[in-house]
Amino acid sequence: MSTSDQMDRVVNLCKRRGLVFPSSEIYGGFRSTWDYGPLGVELKRNVKDAWWRAMVQLRDDVVGLDAAILMAPKVWEASGHLATFTDPLVDCRSCKERFRADHLPKSGACPNCGAKDSFTEARHFNLMFKTFVGPVEDDAAVAYLRPETAQGIFVNFANVQTTSRKKPPFGVAQIGKSFRNEITPGNFIFRTREFEQMEMEYFVPPEDADRWYEYWCQERLRWHLDLGIPESKLRLRPHDTEELSHYSTGTSDVEYEFPWGWGELEGIANRTDFDLKQHAQSSGQELTFFDQEHDRRYVPYVIEPALGADRATLAFLLAAYEEEDVPNGKGGTEKRTVLHLDPRLAPIKVAVLPLSRNERLTPVAEEIAGSLRSQFMIDVDTSGSIGRRYRRQDEVGTPYCVTVDFDTLDDQAVTVRDRDSMTQERIPVEGLVTYLRERLPW
Ligand code: ATP
Repeated sequence: MSTSDQMDRVVNLCKRRGLVFPSSEIYGGFRSTWDYGPLGVELKRNVKDAWWRAMVQLRDDVVGLDAAILMAPKVWEASGHLATFTDPLVDCRSCKERFRADHLPKSGACPNCGAKDSFTEARHFNLMFKTFVGPVEDDAAVAYLRPETAQGIFVNFANVQTTSRKKPPFGVAQIGKSFRNEITPGNFIFRTREFEQMEMEYFVPPEDADRWYEYWCQERLRWHLDLGIPESKLRLRPHDTEELSHYSTGTSDVEYEFPWGWGELEGIANRTDFDLKQHAQSSGQELTFFDQEHDRRYVPYVIEPALGADRATLAFLLAAYEEEDVPNGKGGTEKRTVLHLDPRLAPIKVAVLPLSRNERLTPVAEEIAGSLRSQFMIDVDTSGSIGRRYRRQDEVGTPYCVTVDFDTLDDQAVTVRDRDSMTQERIPVEGLVTYLRERLPW
């Protein structure tokens, strides 16, 4: 399967199985916006939960925050976003298509019509969405939709530090929507104008910043590998000096090999003391930490791992997608599509399948599903042949199928089928929760 085919097939699967739909579809869609359907919302929630668990729950040095999307416009002035959060925009004079100048091919040819050297001079275009707060649409009412969640953390530095009584090194994590008026959104949910970010600002003594930057680069790489992204598809790419943001002395991208090439999945940046200093100066509030032990006051440096929830979801989907030949039970083979998602990310953990719609089997299947529901996300599927139902669960990544058959009525046992190996095991109903718990950690 070619890589572009793989992308088409994943997009198609997402639509067909209720993972991701084009937004406003009954009106013909709306400019690269997407809606997560019943299975997609579970998958993305699991991605966010896995991040929160690793970054907050399992650590004693990181706490959470949920700041407002609309913030005082002064925030964006102080952070530098009003002046510098821009992308260079060019138009092709021949076909009128717009591009980001820094995304053009080296050949100088228009990616749309092929015309050579047809681009206008680059103009700088601010990516922040502007809106008005209150009924009067004048300059005093202008506000911006946040283009990153990080600033909500910086302006709350003192609030969080004093109430949580954390001392550097400590971090504040946040998951939430961000908005960027991207010039060229595309590649499905890779680049959209509205997206979710998972960001953590880790405040450290300035002299320890380099060490913590290295630590977080390795730690974040490990997170992606642990959740099933193969090592061959992942790399850490340090930025060149000219590529660095205005606030950063060091940034590395965790890149994934997407079907169209290597692309940023996550950025890890040493943001220095830039943001806290800017906000202190602009607000007149002190944003420092007093280190009692060494009797000194300082502005902490900040190491930031920033990951897009939607981009991560796409990478997990692409890495998990496989079409394989499997025995068809008649001596030949047949194709099956399977998502080898890590069980922690799978939208449905267990499918309960009565062998047929028999009136004696259905209540038993319902009872088993009921006993599992409080522990796992369950699906009960009763329609079609058992083989077809297995295939349906395989292609949305359900790790285990529990089949209730006529023997169940006598032996109080069920058949548990494993998604990846397709092996089946007979398990007493009594021990089913324990069996599944051992294989589905959370
Ligand atoms: P790019 O170079 O792709 O525009 P960026 O370097 O501007 O990305 P950051 O500001 O570092 O991105 O944002 C952190 C993370 O947020 C990115 O690594 C990505 O996962 C996610 N992200 C950023 N912009 C978008 C977008 N338009 N759509 C979806 N996810 C995004």
